[in-house]
Amino acid sequence: MATVARFDNPASYYRDSVLVRMEPPCLPLQGEQRADVCVIGGGITGCSAALHLALRGYRVVVLEARELGFGASGRSGGQILPGLGTDIATVERALGRDRAREVWEMSREAVRLTAELVERHAIPCDLSWGYLHAAVKPRHVRELREFQARMARDYGYEALDWLEGEALREHVATDAYPGALFEREGGHLHPLNYTLGLAQAACQAGVTFHEQSAAVAIERGQPARVRTRDGCVTADFVVLGTNAYLGGLVPELEGRIMRAANYIVATEPLGAERAARVLPRNDALSDANFVLDYYRLSADRRLIYGGEVSYDGREPRGLQQRMDAKIAWLFPALKGVRIDYRWGGEVAITLNRAPDFGRLDNNLYYAQGYSGHGMALAGLAGKLMADAVAGQSERFDVFAAMPHRPFPGGRRLRTPLLVLATMFYKLRDRL
Ligand SMILES: Cc1cc2nc3c(=O)[nH]c(=O)nc-3n(C[C@H](O)[C@H](O)[C@H](O)COP(=O)(O)OP(=O)(O)OC[C@H]3O[C@@H](n4cnc5c(N)ncnc54)[C@H](O)[C@@H]3O)c2cc1C
Repeated sequence: MATVARFDNPASYYRDSVLVRMEPPCLPLQGEQRADVCVIGGGITGCSAALHLALRGYRVVVLEARELGFGASGRSGGQILPGLGTDIATVERALGRDRAREVWEMSREAVRLTAELVERHAIPCDLSWGYLHAAVKPRHVRELREFQARMARDYGYEALDWLEGEALREHVATDAYPGALFEREGGHLHPLNYTLGLAQAACQAGVTFHEQSAAVAIERGQPARVRTRDGCVTADFVVLGTNAYLGGLVPELEGRIMRAANYIVATEPLGAERAARVLPRNDALSDANFVLDYYRLSADRRLIYGGEVSYDGREPRGLQQRMDAKIAWLFPALKGVRIDYRWGGEVAITLNRAPDFGRLDNNLYYAQGYSGHGMALAGLAGKLMADAVAGQSERFDVFAAMPHRPFPGGRRLRTPLLVLATMFYKLRDRL
């Protein structure tokens, strides 16, 4: 059984600024189809997998329950950066230093892959470079500087510079942060145009897309049969790119991820002068809190400001007022700025916040649980699954070796337990 999609209305600033239109339109699946690979999910993971499979010569059918980019990929903050949703120490503890280095290098590759795909397929998604990890508290200053030193020492990663005072104000025009790490290899883009651009490239490479075609059951076997309400795809391989929306479709995977909602507002266009009093160099920024805030400017100079979580899909009470207050506190010049859009989306998190890649029955591949850090990684995950289908699974297996445990508490208690844990970290963020 597929899960029910929360946030039914996909209205967002991104939907109103779409530049990529799918031609021909992606009609719902009707009747029987045969494919080499059936991809489930039309986000970055699914579209990248489909594209890379088609480039290898596979016949690919993609099933998307709603419309392409309906999930996190079409709603996200659009921030692109190396690394995972967990810290590198977690990866080291699980896999050892050498494997952790491979994971880190692949996370950098994921960022380069994003840039290559944008360039090769001329995707109009406003990709721009420069990223700030901002300290909010003195303890963050210590932690970020330790991170910078460790990455240079153990990983040879030199793309981080420490900024404070005037040097920092040249990047972000506020006194709110005692310091920040500037990351040259990070940046941002329009996530929905990027996702649709990948889909369009895949379509041109021969992939068939069906929207409004939720997979409701997978009959596992060789070949597998993926059923929708009005049709069925028989395929030698199945690739799952359903992330937070997996539901009960594959029972073994249920419980390995938890859905959490995250929220974004987009202001009115600020104009060149006001935008320069926010992010003069057009960097993206996230702060160092556990429940973090993040922001960037869109191409038409709106402030796209994200943060806040909920676990029941209901918007937290007073969300708009809190977002307004945060924006005004950081940037007094924006006090009273009009908010034109507000939307939410689903993130899939794992217990250790490392992504969860794997295979079942030798012909069903999945990549999920990016824990809020999937914009670049999902593209690489799709490529690695295409490689694995083609028999080159060494790099996929580096990620797949990461151990994952289900959330404690079973179906009934895992959400309340996570809420409690998050409340603890939120409190800690205030200290
Ligand atoms: C508000 C928000 C902000 C974020 N900001 C950032 C950020 O700034 N940087 C970053 O790195 N990450 C960010 N993320 C996370 C990032 O967007 C995700 O990790 C990434 O987009 C996951 O891509 P995906 O393709 O795996 O999943 P999704 O984009 O969620 O796509 C899954 C798709 O599968 C479809 N689907 C599900 N079930 C079925 C089914 N049974 N049949 C057919 N189709 C199905 C869904 O409709 C959906 O379209 C953010 C997420 C959210 C929600």
